[in-house]
Amino acid sequence: MNIILLGPPGSGKGTQTANIAKEYCLCVISLGAMLREEATKDTPHGKEIKNILAKGELVPIETTTKIIKKKLQKENCTKGILFDGFPRTLEQAEALEDIASIDYVFELAISDDEVIKRLSNRTQCKKGHIYGPTIPSKKQGICDIDGFPLAQREDDTQEAIEERLVIYHDETEPLIEYYKPRNIVHTIDASKKPDKVFADIKKILNL
Ligand code: AMP
Repeated sequence: MNIILLGPPGSGKGTQTANIAKEYCLCVISLGAMLREEATKDTPHGKEIKNILAKGELVPIETTTKIIKKKLQKENCTKGILFDGFPRTLEQAEALEDIASIDYVFELAISDDEVIKRLSNRTQCKKGHIYGPTIPSKKQGICDIDGFPLAQREDDTQEAIEERLVIYHDETEPLIEYYKPRNIVHTIDASKKPDKVFADIKKILNL
């Protein structure tokens, strides 16, 4: 079972990726998280990625496909793959055709206003556990799971959020039309609380 999660920044892709992968034992390709890890490397390539992420722009397709292929070579994904944040462009969707055949596309639908509100209040620990208005941590500023401090992401600045929303509407949203003729697109109301969103996704996956 291969799944794509599509949605603007702040729609809950990261949170639902963790839920779905655990429930259905899927391999996870969370491209944003993988790129953030690359960006910590003190190499010219790492620095280049760090710059692109901070501006909220997309990294080149050569980088994305290389990272994905490398990860999939290492893993044994017998139950399937969950793609979080990939594809984000038509070009990437076409490249994905050679990597995996997709069974479900979930569009996490949410308004730009709600995205801006969520991202301005979003924090996460260095392991990527996410907190915000709908998922508060028990102790302020501390991750419930591993006790690491919580911080705002470098690309959750107003400028970068706006850029990421523009890219989402211009480049990623058209993918819904790309996949629609295959009858695999499911639109989920992502403004609900995370457990309700997950319940809606499960209803479809368990059909
Ligand atoms: P995310 O964690 O999904 O919000 O992604 C964070 C950032 O990583 C994005 O704003 C982009 O800069 C980069 N990124 C994530 N996925 C992709 C992708 N499919 N193609 C290019 N850049 C990406």
